[in-house]
Formats: sequence, structure tokens, C-alpha cells
Amino acid sequence: KAKRNGKSQLAFYDKPMDDEIKRKLLLTSEMRKSMNEKEFSVHYQPIFNISMGKVTEAEALLRWESRTLGSVSPAEFVPVAEENGLISGISYFVMESVFKQLKLWEKEGIEIKVAINISPVQLLNRGFISSFKELVRKFDIDYRKIKFEITETQILTDEGGIVKFLGRMLKTGLDISLDDFGVGFSSIKNMILFPISEIKIDKSFTDKLLHDEKAEAIVESVIHAAKKLGYKVTAEGVETKRQFEKLKYMGCDKIQGYYISKPMPPEGIIAFIRSLEL
Ligand code: C2E
Ligand code: MG
Ligand code: MG
Ligand code: MG
Repeated sequence: KAKRNGKSQLAFYDKPMDDEIKRKLLLTSEMRKSMNEKEFSVHYQPIFNISMGKVTEAEALLRWESRTLGSVSPAEFVPVAEENGLISGISYFVMESVFKQLKLWEKEGIEIKVAINISPVQLLNRGFISSFKELVRKFDIDYRKIKFEITETQILTDEGGIVKFLGRMLKTGLDISLDDFGVGFSSIKNMILFPISEIKIDKSFTDKLLHDEKAEAIVESVIHAAKKLGYKVTAEGVETKRQFEKLKYMGCDKIQGYYISKPMPPEGIIAFIRSLEL
């Protein structure tokens, strides 16, 4: 905030703002260093399909274990990477890791679809589409094994032919999901504008489901609308049996959250899926 007297230029920034900028600069320089030092990895969180009674999908979640900063949450560093341009490299790393993993699981006879988080900023990046296609070809990936989770934000626009690209992807059998559904103010608009096959109800609704009638009514109508439009519905952040039962009763298709499992390294996924199938 600007200081009223405006005596000095330096007074323009208040303390918290200053700290935020410093943190961003630090993250940027550490990120740049760690790109080729194996500090990044991808964990996977199982998604349980209610009608099939088994885990059919997993969400790929990026992890950064920095030698200097400790573990940094993607919720903090992904937005910074979007600003400083490092997101392209990071996103390439995530796609490559996921595709390698899909091939390994395929060898083990594990049938699983992986959801990859893609931010609107990434979609707008020149080069995203071509590197995605290049990797799909290189690893010989079946489009039906992939889902894009696109975060709902204000900047989700149709610049650069995003709708056309997503529409073509959807036709190949790749799933497209609107992530964190209901958090922004443009959920309904996005549901109409973008070619999608799923929505993912945000954790904040799951949290309120059992004690807040408004949240309950909203989730109920969102599930209803999604069904009418032919979309599948996943709920995220499900932590208790009561939430699970409620969402099942409401017609939700898939459940993700600590109640099923926390995210884990890829080695854990096979054992987890097999243990559920017994
Ligand atoms: P998201 O896509 O909404 O992912 C769900 C987040 O909720 C994950 O946090 C997951 O670990 C956490 N979570 C899942 N179940 C539960 C639960 O039952 N309780 C609680 N308290 N949390 C739960 P995480 O891994 O820290 O990721 C945060 C966000 O960072 C993600 O939100 C996503 O927007 C972003 N992100 C993660 N990986 C990537 C990536 O590879 N690329 C991009 N662009 N964004 C990513
Ligand atoms: Mg997600
Ligand atoms: Mg989400
Ligand atoms: Mg979320």
C-alpha cells in the first residue's frame, strides 16, 4: 500500500509485500537451480469409482523437496513458476514422468487413468500443445489413459484456440475436468463454454456438506446439472465415511481424498490397488 505522505519511494512497499517479493525471488532462483537436480517428483492420489467399486484413476501431484527450502507446496510454487516462465519446463517434466509411469503400470497389468493438472496459463503457453503431442507420440500413450484437470479461474479464456484444442482432445477419448469447481464465479459459464467431460467439486464444498444447508443444496444441483449434461462428477477432499456416504447418496460418481488415500509415490499405487481388489 502507498504511504500517505509519499516522502520516499522506498516507503511504497509495506513489510508483508516486501516479504512476498523476497520469497518469490528466492523460489525462482531455487527452482531454476533444482530443475535438473531431481528435487521434483510426481506423487499420485487414488480416485475411487463408486459404481465400479474400485480405484480407476489417480491424480498426478507435483512434489518439490528442495535441499535448501525443504518441501514446498505446489499451491505456492506453481503460481510463481507461471509468472517466471519456468512452468513450461516443470509441466514437461510432469507429463514425461506420468507417461513413463503409465507405461510401467501397463506392464504390470494395472488399468489406470491419470489426471494431470493444467493451469490456464499453461494452456496459453506457446509450445504446450506441441510438447504434449510430442510426448504422447514418444511414449505411445493412449489418449483414453489421460485426463486434464483445468483449474477454474478468471483467466480461463478462449484465447489461442483453447476451446478448439480441448474439443479435439475430447474426441480422442481424453477426459477433461473442471477442477476446483464452484470456487470461482464463472463455473456455469465454463461449464457451457468449454468442451469437458467432468467436473471436480472443490474441497471447500465437501468440507461444508454435512453442516451447511446452502452448500448441500449447491452440490445437489451441481450434480444434477452435470448429469443432465452428460458429465461425470468427482468430489475432492473427502476425509470421512459420512462425507463419502452422503456424496454417494447424492449421485456423485467418484471420490478422492484422505478417506480413500493420501497422495503417494508411484510404487505405492500398485500395492494399494491390489489390496482393494482382494
Ligand atoms: P488440486 O488439483 O485441487 O489438488 C488437490 C489437492 O488437495 C492436493 O494438494 C491434494 O494433496 C490435496 N488433498 C487431496 N485429498 C485431500 C484431503 O482429503 N484433505 C486435504 N486436506 N487435502 C487433500 P497438493 O498436492 O498440495 O496440490 C495443491 C494444488 O497444486 C493442486 O490442487 C493443483 O492446483 C496444484 N498442482 C499440483 N500439481 C500440479 C501440477 O503438476 N501442475 C499444475 N499446474 N498444478 C499442480
Ligand atoms: Mg487437480
Ligand atoms: Mg482440485
Ligand atoms: Mg483444490
